[in-house]
Amino acid sequence: MKNKWMSMNKKEKLRWGRNVVQLLFFVLFPALSERTVKWLQKLKYLILVFVLLLCYMGQGEQVGKNSPWTFFSMITAGRFPMLSYAVSAVLLIVILIGMAVHERFFCQFLCPMGAVFSLLPELPLFAMKRKAQNCISNCQLCKKRCPVSVKIGEEPYRRGECIRCGKCMASCPRKNIMIH
Ligand code: SF4
Ligand code: SF4
Repeated sequence: MKNKWMSMNKKEKLRWGRNVVQLLFFVLFPALSERTVKWLQKLKYLILVFVLLLCYMGQGEQVGKNSPWTFFSMITAGRFPMLSYAVSAVLLIVILIGMAVHERFFCQFLCPMGAVFSLLPELPLFAMKRKAQNCISNCQLCKKRCPVSVKIGEEPYRRGECIRCGKCMASCPRKNIMIH
């Protein structure tokens, strides 16, 4: 093992390290159940309400100070903030871990802007349609490919969680999903 490691170049060592980290994450954080995902998706609305309340109460600077992106931008600027940014740092760590284990973890579960944008697809203009009668039996490929767990089962369907990525349309072998 030692000889093998020594014979690896830098790129191979990095790839090996990345695989080990990914494996560890998948062992420590198993895939979230559909029910948990649905529950977590509601969190961003609570965060949005909380942020709006703070702004309404004249505490807008607290939002900026405790934002994980404040901590991130300080680090990228070469500044290492003190303990007063602890909340911001913890949030950033949670987001990084979450993003490593679940696709679109931040925008799906925590982003207040994601909550705002999720209201748009509820408009009739954004509805998508699936011709269920043309479906291959037991296919469900569109649903499996959806990165934000939209239940693609009704027609027309419009879900706030839909990010209009088009993966459901692209994955359908029968080109069975279209903009309504
Ligand atoms: S467009 Fe993307 S997010 Fe929306 S239902 Fe299809 S796969 Fe899911
Ligand atoms: S991928 Fe196409 S055929 Fe398969 S369930 Fe979805 S819409 Fe139907």
